[in-house]
Amino acid sequence: MRGVSSTARSGYSAKSYRTEAIVLRHHKLGEADRIVVLLTPDHGQIRAVAKGVRRTSSKLGATLEPFMHVDLQLIHGKNLDTITQAQLLHQYGAPIAASYQSYTAAAAMVETAERLTSTDVDTTGPQFRLLHGALAMVARGEGVAATIMNSYLLRALSTAGWAPSFTDCARCTTPGPHEALNIQLGGSVCASCRPAGSRSPAPGTIRLLAALLTGNWATVAQASAGEVREADSIVGEYVQWHLERALKSLRLVERTPASEPPLDPPPGRRFSAARDQPHAAAPGAAP
Ligand SMILES: [Zn+2]
Repeated sequence: MRGVSSTARSGYSAKSYRTEAIVLRHHKLGEADRIVVLLTPDHGQIRAVAKGVRRTSSKLGATLEPFMHVDLQLIHGKNLDTITQAQLLHQYGAPIAASYQSYTAAAAMVETAERLTSTDVDTTGPQFRLLHGALAMVARGEGVAATIMNSYLLRALSTAGWAPSFTDCARCTTPGPHEALNIQLGGSVCASCRPAGSRSPAPGTIRLLAALLTGNWATVAQASAGEVREADSIVGEYVQWHLERALKSLRLVERTPASEPPLDPPPGRRFSAARDQPHAAAPGAAP
């Protein structure tokens, strides 16, 4: 699947290849090295060694932080590939880490991306583009971070083959909108299909969920605070149902508008400085 780069002919290395990537997280390896988990459009999810990056003088280390969009040169290895060069394409890490809301939303997105692409290699390209687009929006402050995250989560799950329906009945496809919603059945359900225990969200919440799924930001902007809260909880349930265990980052997400300052010092702000500490609150830190 992984192609040999054209540099093979130039004698650089037959095992060398080049790719763009988004850094999902990293963890320590030995005294000075890191293992970096990357999402690439054409080579799937990659775990690669970055040598010497935990030394303060390492330029490579500063580039290979979570959320960064990078251009990489790698060498295939027996078990792990090795990163030989990294060039920054988009510096998303710093603006995202500057806000607790942005940081927790982005952390939940990269964690979801890692899990959705760990085995499914067929959808890597679309998953890469979805994540890149959502991280760019969060980094530029284009909307409420939690809203961008909810839209990303619904679309990432859809791309992975678990598309919810918020219009037609998820079971019999009778055109909606319908009053009831059932997470296990995949979204809206009509009156005849509705099992006991289905939810009955506000009609505005169903409209909001449909808008988040399609990226209809004009409709998203019209939602009331109550509809936003209800949609938050439904998206969280949907993600958890499909990923089979709660995303630990979702629990951290501060679901308030980005304009409101967080009450406590956000752990996200510490992530650059604290990245080499064993108990740092960053997703890239080793547990
Ligand atoms: Zn039905």
